[in-house]
Amino acid sequence: MSPFSRSATTVSSPPPTANDGSSGNLATLPLEIRQQIFAYAVDTTRSVINKQCCGPVSTKRERDSCRKHGNKVALDTGRFNLLLVSKKVAEEASWVLYNRGSLKLELGKKLRPYYSQYRSKSSYRLGEIPHAVKIKAMWMSAARYRFVELALSSKIMRLENPEDYTNHLCETASLLLKAWEKELYQPTAEVPHKVTISLGALFDEVVPFNANPDLDMDGDIHLWSLINFPGQQPDFGRIAANSGKNFMRLISIVRQNCGLSEWKMVALSEIDEESEGYKWLKGVRKECWRSGMSFKSLTREEMDL
Ligand SMILES: [Zn+2]
Repeated sequence: MSPFSRSATTVSSPPPTANDGSSGNLATLPLEIRQQIFAYAVDTTRSVINKQCCGPVSTKRERDSCRKHGNKVALDTGRFNLLLVSKKVAEEASWVLYNRGSLKLELGKKLRPYYSQYRSKSSYRLGEIPHAVKIKAMWMSAARYRFVELALSSKIMRLENPEDYTNHLCETASLLLKAWEKELYQPTAEVPHKVTISLGALFDEVVPFNANPDLDMDGDIHLWSLINFPGQQPDFGRIAANSGKNFMRLISIVRQNCGLSEWKMVALSEIDEESEGYKWLKGVRKECWRSGMSFKSLTREEMDL
């Protein structure tokens, strides 16, 4: 079962047009009006976010007791219930959801179980999607969305090791690209997948790029260090180098495998131009441009919006 929605008919282009009456009274309305109604009902203005609870390695008991997905949740709640109405409605409404709505994959520990043992062979060859049923279902269902955002939240940056989450960005991109390859209904040239990689204030954070050995280990960085490197001094040089390397790998994976899809990185760029972070930002941005990926620089004001 898909972690995003209860029903999952595939996205296809062009939109379903058959008017066989099984949409009930809706069938008398023009397709565009029906699509507007479905867009409103599934609320395409709000991104679908990867499940933050009961993941693929949860026990049955954990899933049953989950407040969002467990067996105590009333069946008539939730914005995707429309997809249960009838096959015809599900088909049209899910087309609207996958083509007009968007999926936000938040990197970090909730997404981690979905990589399983995944290793991409190289930037040129994408690895197979893990075979575990729930993991595979998640990536195949992610592949149906036309608009996808891969997001690093400030919480992840505050708590997790950038060597891990930048590596996971590479894996997420690879798995998404692989899932598109397998998806039967490829988007046409007119409707390419669009992926936004939201990096927030990454280049302005202390880790990965702005830490130095003489750093005062206080406040947030002290907590970060305790979580990720308990009892040892983090090697900030290595962390910066590995994180930067992962960004270059990410761009290379996308360049080799993107096909018709369009990728964009977005990051706060209004930062101290003397900082190490700014040097990395310039390097990553240049590599994006060289590789046909766009890079959107945000001002502080734009970030706060
Ligand atoms: Zn749950």
